[in-house]
Amino acid sequence: MKDEGGDITRALNLSTRFPERTPSPVGNALRGVPMKRRYGGTPRRAFPSGGSLGTRQGYLAPIAVVVCVGASLLVSALGGDRPKPEGPAAFSTADYDRHIAELKKKLPGPGFTIIVERPFVVIGDEPTEDVRRHCKETIRWAVDRLKAEYFPRDPLEILDIWLFQDATSYERNCRTIFKQAPDTPYGFFSHEERALVMNIATGGGTLVHEIVHPFMAANFPDCPAWFNEGLGSLYEQSSERGGRIVGLTNWRLAGLQAAIRKHQVRPFKALCGMTDREFYRDDRGTNYAQARYLCYYLQEAGLLRSFYRRFVANHARDPSGYRTLQEVLGREDMEAFQKEWEAFVLKLAFP
Ligand SMILES: [Zn+2]
Repeated sequence: MKDEGGDITRALNLSTRFPERTPSPVGNALRGVPMKRRYGGTPRRAFPSGGSLGTRQGYLAPIAVVVCVGASLLVSALGGDRPKPEGPAAFSTADYDRHIAELKKKLPGPGFTIIVERPFVVIGDEPTEDVRRHCKETIRWAVDRLKAEYFPRDPLEILDIWLFQDATSYERNCRTIFKQAPDTPYGFFSHEERALVMNIATGGGTLVHEIVHPFMAANFPDCPAWFNEGLGSLYEQSSERGGRIVGLTNWRLAGLQAAIRKHQVRPFKALCGMTDREFYRDDRGTNYAQARYLCYYLQEAGLLRSFYRRFVANHARDPSGYRTLQEVLGREDMEAFQKEWEAFVLKLAFP
């Protein structure tokens, strides 16, 4: 992300909003999994495929740049390359108290609940019990499992998570608090405000996706976009298996399957070798979905966590992760692997 990220960084710093375009109502179409353990999205006509297949490219590509590079930029801006002690309590109670005192000055009126849900501060205008429920059932649930799975270090700054109760509140308060109208109905990440801003009525999937990025930035600041987005996207629709977080199939599948059938999906060597700029701006539109379902494949093969750890360890000599992918898969012939992966993906179903 360093080389190509520089220009993007500067471009992004001109923008305050980092919209995530993942449609994200809780995945209530899924069966057999308790509702509170499902976070996901359903396809919308306006956003048929996260890989931004075809027609929406002009809209989605810039958004994608913003979202994900934004997360990494935050870290570099905050000194993310410096060693950080691992473990809990990177910020003290007094730090949170000071942060909340400042936060209260931004509130547009009464009726907001503020909850410290470490490492985040959550602000919501639903009834307090509902805000607490989102904290516990979405944020804490995801944070605990993502930390257990991958991330020993907390984000390097206290980030706010604004949960607005519906579209009206979300749009009105974005204008009031952040002085800008949202251009996505779901939620966005604001680098300047150090905040995730969500229309929580659309569900928790986008929120879980977004939560991955500040943790990735704190733990693997040089993570290339393909893996940062692949992992974030994986958990847009998530559940747990044996107490561990798992990604489920989601709305990105249909577009990827169509691209596979049209032989439009790039080789993994090319995917991994993309600069962040290329990943976000490429107009084939399968990048998010391909990265997501590579992560899904690794997960189902029991290899995802070991891939992450080896990729972090190998990063200096393998910045793209491609060699590490080959090592973890135990494959030299990646053409043959790609054929197997494509067959695997074509057999998947959603919902
Ligand atoms: Zn993302």
